[in-house]
Amino acid sequence: MDSFSSILSFFSSPVFKMSTRLFILFLFILWVSAIFWAYRDAEKRGTIGTYWAAVIFFFNIFGLIIYLILRPPEYLADVQERELEIIAKEEALSLERTCYGCHKPIKPDFLICPYCMKRLKKSCPACNRPLNLDWNICPYCKSSF
Ligand SMILES: [Zn+2]
Ligand SMILES: [Zn+2]
Repeated sequence: MDSFSSILSFFSSPVFKMSTRLFILFLFILWVSAIFWAYRDAEKRGTIGTYWAAVIFFFNIFGLIIYLILRPPEYLADVQERELEIIAKEEALSLERTCYGCHKPIKPDFLICPYCMKRLKKSCPACNRPLNLDWNICPYCKSSF
């Protein structure tokens, strides 16, 4: 028996056929799980999951590579979370005022700074609402002084 026929006998052996089938099965499982993974990943990133699942279904590994290049960089949940954080920060900024004398936090309706005693606002003589010091008319009750 020369080496050529021993190679041939290896390729026709049941062990070789078995391992070929296992390898094909392995590739098939990889392909199917790539389709499912891309579907879920694409949905989480806010793109059309069925579209990308179809791309990988038809183009296999090449479809997967294209998806990895073109997919949105962030999860949709992360984007939404960041937007909510920005809104919360903007709200906090608009509510938070600081005294222009000592820069400590004060409320917008304070007449005087409790830290440095600086006069911040005057109260309207008619309706007692806090007014800016340089206003000559009350925007709430229209009384002038
Ligand atoms: Zn102050
Ligand atoms: Zn007033």
